[in-house]
Amino acid sequence: MAKYWNESIECMSREDMKKLQDERLVAQVKHVWDNVPYYRKKMEEKGVTPEDIKSTADLHKLPFLTKADLRDAYPYGLLAKPLSDCVRIQSTSGTTGKRVVAFYTQHDIDLWEDCCARAIVAAGGTNEDVCQVCYGYGLFTGGPGLNGGSHKVGCLTLPMSSGNTERQIQFMIDLQSTILCCTPSYAAYIGETLHEMGYTTDDIKLKAGIFGAEPWTEEMRREIEKSLGIKAYDIYGLTETSGPGVSFECSEQTGMHINEDHFIAEIIDPDTGEVLPEGSKGELVFTSITKEAFPLLRYRTRDICVLTREKCSCGRTLVKMSKPLGRSDDMLIIRGVNVFPSQIETVLIEHGYAPNYQIEVDRVNNTDTLDVNVEMTEAQFSDTIKDIQQKEQELVEAMKTMLGINPKVHLVSPKTIARSEGKAVRVIDKRKLHD
Ligand code: ADP
Ligand code: ZN
Repeated sequence: MAKYWNESIECMSREDMKKLQDERLVAQVKHVWDNVPYYRKKMEEKGVTPEDIKSTADLHKLPFLTKADLRDAYPYGLLAKPLSDCVRIQSTSGTTGKRVVAFYTQHDIDLWEDCCARAIVAAGGTNEDVCQVCYGYGLFTGGPGLNGGSHKVGCLTLPMSSGNTERQIQFMIDLQSTILCCTPSYAAYIGETLHEMGYTTDDIKLKAGIFGAEPWTEEMRREIEKSLGIKAYDIYGLTETSGPGVSFECSEQTGMHINEDHFIAEIIDPDTGEVLPEGSKGELVFTSITKEAFPLLRYRTRDICVLTREKCSCGRTLVKMSKPLGRSDDMLIIRGVNVFPSQIETVLIEHGYAPNYQIEVDRVNNTDTLDVNVEMTEAQFSDTIKDIQQKEQELVEAMKTMLGINPKVHLVSPKTIARSEGKAVRVIDKRKLHD
């Protein structure tokens, strides 16, 4: 069984990888300068020309691109190829505002699907596998990306898209799917439904899951692994950099290897823009060095994580990024304290709750309020009011310790919090509605 999809790249020496990146970066900067007036103007404003960029060491000289630039330049302003050379458009999910669109040449599609193939092989996928893709198909990149990767690997591909969960399970059983690709919140929902339909993990053949597109905690990983009887692998990407497959997890499950032959990663201080040394936590910035139609130089992802080059037991030499446990703009500032939804998820799962919760933030009499609605299991639901109140208090205490502020916790009846078939909506920030 092949361990790697592209061993010569995935296990390349650092020195050779740097050389490859240097060459590709120089060519890419020239391509952008020649074809994207929007970015050229940014470079001119900073007093940088392509001649200033001789290697990755010069990367920091280039101006950043942000989501605001993408919205500003919408739809064609960052296009680097004639539309007649483009074959596909995809769009972001619009999780944090107006959607942006990305363009692909056939070559871009090939490279993107190749990145997804690496992820599938790293999760143990071969042409013997049946790969059920339940990410949304359409403008969202999840379905098309993993679908293409699955074809490349030669898996028998089930292009299910998301939704109709009982049918997902019926096909999973009848067609003996071995790999599941979807968001982690949908994987949790599929697991829940499987058991509700009276099946167990003995009824399915799944061995691995490739889950991404939204933040998820280690606790959630263990829950899903148990409920579906699989090993769950993380995958990361964003529409702006093609889609899923920018990075992927290997069997070590300690972070995601970045496909550095296509993307150069930097970590910056989100406030000052300063590049931080390896091992620092900060905002992830990507420079795509092979994309033709929609090449982004120093694109600020707003995802917060850490990069590491520690040796990985899988043999890959590609740099690893830690799980981004939320974007800089996912972070809630509540009474002056920074709170990530993932911290709340950790507490809930550690206390035996399923990952069905919603966080409500509001401002009452000039004070921020934090309410966490958590679904009880059927067993907990039959408890006395006193027991339920005590459980709520336990969660309040645990969250207070974790977050440093006092939340209100409400245990609600089973099945009252909407399940997610794509990216879960965990936070309702009513403060924004008042502005
Ligand atoms: P949108 O930004 O509208 O959600 P995308 O569908 O392109 O658009 O989503 C990309 C974003 O999804 C990333 O910037 C990141 O915040 C999040 N994301 C993707 N994969 C992961 C992952 N494995 N873990 C955490 N967050 C992820
Ligand atoms: Zn590895």
